[in-house]
Formats: sequence, structure tokens, C-alpha cells
Amino acid sequence: MKISNIEVFKVSIPVKGDYRMATGVHTALESLVIRLISDDGIVGIGEAHQGIAGYTYETIDSMYAVAQHTFRPALIGTDLVSIEEFHSRMEFIRIGNPFVKSAFETAAYDLLAKQRGISIAEMLGGPVRNQIQLSGGIGIDTPERLGGKLTELVDKGYKTVKIKIGTNDIHNDIACVIAARKAIGDNVNLRVDCNSGYTTPDAVTVIRGIAECNVEHLEQPVSALNFRGLRKLRSMGVVPILADESAFTVADVMRCIEQDAVDAVKIKITKVGGYINARRIIELCQAADLKVILGQGLCSSIEASAEMQLACAFAQIDSVGEMVGPAKLSGDLTDSPIDLSEGKLILPPGFGMGTTLSEAKLKQYSV
Ligand SMILES: [Mg+2]
Repeated sequence: MKISNIEVFKVSIPVKGDYRMATGVHTALESLVIRLISDDGIVGIGEAHQGIAGYTYETIDSMYAVAQHTFRPALIGTDLVSIEEFHSRMEFIRIGNPFVKSAFETAAYDLLAKQRGISIAEMLGGPVRNQIQLSGGIGIDTPERLGGKLTELVDKGYKTVKIKIGTNDIHNDIACVIAARKAIGDNVNLRVDCNSGYTTPDAVTVIRGIAECNVEHLEQPVSALNFRGLRKLRSMGVVPILADESAFTVADVMRCIEQDAVDAVKIKITKVGGYINARRIIELCQAADLKVILGQGLCSSIEASAEMQLACAFAQIDSVGEMVGPAKLSGDLTDSPIDLSEGKLILPPGFGMGTTLSEAKLKQYSV
């Protein structure tokens, strides 16, 4: 089977309200969409959103340019038989650019799985489960408004919620965590993400301030390369530390392990550059006994479905995922958006990633 054509799109879907974090604000989902077409007419799709400025060097325009002008011409006409070979070929064409590679690799998995008549979860060696719970995520907000938003999520059925802090006002941030715990009561898990917002001394103060809040883990309290700071915060023994911005590559995760810097690692299919790197990181975490959390907080149902297939393929991945991006959007790219309403996600039946791109929606949101 040969790749006979590749179509590259840029889409923009407005966010409901805005989605605020320490390193920037999302007012719209800006995504790259890839359609991979084989010479026997099978189509695979992939999406990669543009991350926030402080999270990744890739922008929607750089992603489009690399996809359209570098990967597209180099991949058209090549054989698509082995996914490992496809992955190696992309590494050879251009290093870096994990978000772009993730969109291509997702499309290749979708295409190959459809050709073989199986789901991506099966292609990855699963499924080990057919359902996961979700963590309801909300952006930076005031302590007063946070309570209301969290109560809404808990009422819908969410048993885990996640808030964002990491601002310059650490005492207000502490108040946000305390308000969040008060709003959700004692029986709901609380995750807190700082998006690299603190210096190590400020993070120490925040950890002391939230010590009584029973936080499941504190995500990326300090900047990506501050492994020493992560290790110091972890050694306080107050709250488990999770690496997100510090864990893009397999080598990053190896460094986290070597330095005893974290208790858990966050995977997003885009950040790690696709399924193969995700699998390598999962296996490394399994060997080092690190928890693995999966999920992207802002994406359409295409990327969320791609992550759902991964979540159902590996037992090491935590059974509470964070692929709740579609809930923050005013529209979607598929006619049957994934159902996040009750705080859980069910692996869809069907081949490939189990969802399809809507022509009408693609046209509506293309830019
Ligand atoms: Mg994060």
C-alpha cells in the first residue's frame, strides 16, 4: 500500500469563554489536520493542536509549513506497511516538530488500523479497558468562580477535577486550591497544574499552603529544565509531583528518572510526537514505577479520540484521563463529538480511531 496523497488543513474553533493558564490564554483551538490517503482509497486522519506560547515552540503556521512543504512531499509515493518504518522515516526527514509528527503518525495508525479492520487500541496491543474516567479541567480563575465551576462538574458525575494555578500571586493561588477542595468536598480527587509558573522557593510556599487540601498531584510547579527544583519539591513529601513540560521526549523522562525528580509523568500524544514515543515513555515509567497520566486539555474530538485509543491500550496509563478538550470548544470537527458529559469516556466501536472527520465542519472551521 502506497501513500497516494496527503491533505493538510489549518482549522480554528473558538473556545467557550477563554482558557487561561500560567503561560498564556487560549481564545481558540488552532489545529493542524492531516488526511492521509492510500492508493487503495483508505483515508486516515490526524490532528495536532497548537500549544500555548510557553509550552511549545511549534505554532500553527510553523506546523502547517513543515507539514505541507517538508513532510507532505517527502511522504507521498512511499510505502505504508510498517508503522515503525513510517516513524523512522519521519525522524529522518526532519528532527523535532513533535506536534506535526503526532498528526501524521495518528493518521498513519488510523489508516493502517482501518485497512486491517481493527481499532488503534488493538493495533497497540490492547484494549486492556473499554472505558476511562475523566478529570474535569478548568483554567485559571478567581477562588469564588472556581467553586461554582467545579460544583457543576461534580454534579455531572466527575469524580476527579483539575484546576490551574501558577500565577504571580501565590497567596491567591493557595486560596484557589483551598476554595476548590471546599467546593468539591472530601470524596472528589483534586489535581493542580502550575504550568511551570513558580520559582522553587515560591513553589515551596505553595506546597506548604495547600498541604491540608489532599491534592492528588502538583503538576509542573517549576520550569521545564529545573529538574533540581522538582526533586527538592518532591523530597518535601507533602504532595506527589508530576512532570508535564519537563517530559516531552523519552530522554526527558529518562532524566526525570535518573534525578528522582518526579512521581508521575504526563503524556499528551502531540507533545511526545505520536504513539510510538508514547509507548516508549509508558514502558520507561512502568520500569521506574512512575504513574502515567494521559490527556490533552484543549483539542477537538479527533485528537481526544486518538488519545482515548492510547488510554485503552496500556494498563500503566492512569484510568482517569484528561482528554477533555472538546468540552471547552464552541464547535467540533466530527458529526459525532465524543460524549464527555458524565465524566467518563467509552471506547467507540469501529476501526481506526473510531471517529470520522466531517467535511462540512472541516469547511466551516478551515482558515
Ligand atoms: Mg500541564
